Amino acid sequence: MTVEYSETFDQAAEIAGSALSLMKERNLPANPNNFAVWFHYYSQRDPNLRRTLDLLLNSGKGIDEGQLTEIYEKFFTFEHEGSVLHQAANKINEELGNILKQLGEAGDGASEYGKALEMFSGKLSTSDDVSGLQALVGNIITATRAMEERNKNLEAKLTHSSDEINHLQDDLEDMRREAMTDGLTGIPNRKVFDMALRQAARDVEEEEDEMCLLLADIDHFKKFNDTYGHQVGDQVLRLLANTLVACIKGQDTAARYGGEEFGVILPRTSLVNAVKVAEAIRQRLGHKKVMNRTTGESMGEIKVSVGVGRYRHGEPLPQLISRADAALYMAKNTGRDKVVAENEVENVDVVLGA
Ligand code: GH3
Ligand code: MG
Ligand code: MG
Repeated sequence: MTVEYSETFDQAAEIAGSALSLMKERNLPANPNNFAVWFHYYSQRDPNLRRTLDLLLNSGKGIDEGQLTEIYEKFFTFEHEGSVLHQAANKINEELGNILKQLGEAGDGASEYGKALEMFSGKLSTSDDVSGLQALVGNIITATRAMEERNKNLEAKLTHSSDEINHLQDDLEDMRREAMTDGLTGIPNRKVFDMALRQAARDVEEEEDEMCLLLADIDHFKKFNDTYGHQVGDQVLRLLANTLVACIKGQDTAARYGGEEFGVILPRTSLVNAVKVAEAIRQRLGHKKVMNRTTGESMGEIKVSVGVGRYRHGEPLPQLISRADAALYMAKNTGRDKVVAENEVENVDVVLGA
């Protein structure tokens, strides 16, 4: 990821100054990673980063280095991914270079061996005594052994190279999976959601079938976080993610859409059936009691509101998302803990405040 910095010299100096004072005030080491985090915080480039750090700053507890490292990895992870990929590509190149070099050496060795054999066969016909012949045969055996030895070395080196390449392949697969997964909940992230939605739209268009989209948002989650803490809030996000996964089938995709919002793509599904899936999610979650494992304290029930949109063939996908969002907004405005389908939204413009 290349980050574009649009600040003027003075603006950047001021932001850098604020970042340094904060680290000094909070006793945080001013290393490049921490600096990047706080520079981005003050430059207000990324609202998610800003929100996460505000939560930490306002928590009343100190901020430790471990938390900052986590934040750095979460928000600057593409840089990390990019450099690891770069290293992997270099490593593969290096290994391929080794293999080619070894094959080249074997080629030289093989032709030397061939030349030696030719020379011996020439001498064979001119040799007229037994000891001379014996010496020649001895030389042939030595050359042959040397060739065998070279082949063994080559084999071992090639095996090593192919092991290295297999490791790299596994690492790349892990990285690919990581880049597609939401770190907190373990379900697909926004990037996958966007891709899956585009793919599903293409599929249903080709098949002349229907597709629906659910947008689910936890009710009064801010209050929940404020009451029980962010970590318990994170547990709730995992609970909702697991509930979504439990309520969908193979062709469907449930993903973390944003902070506490989730999207579910339902290809080959009518609006009526999509509402049924949404209801199943709402009810299943509503029946779960959240308990603090250590104190046994009950944290009440978690409720969710869901908006349901139906895809119109050929429309831009943001329109579908807007309709699902308008339905979700209506669910929030008419009591929460409910499912609203797009056809129940009377005037989308009013709901969207246009
Ligand atoms: P509503 O019923 O209208 O949806 O109210 P709300 O409080 O859920 O909505 P609001 O958008 O005001 O607040 C969303 C909250 O979600 C605020 C933020 O603290 C929380 N949140 C977002 N991402 C995370 C996260 O990764 N972990 C935790 N614990 N909370 C998060
Ligand atoms: Mg929300
Ligand atoms: Mg909410």
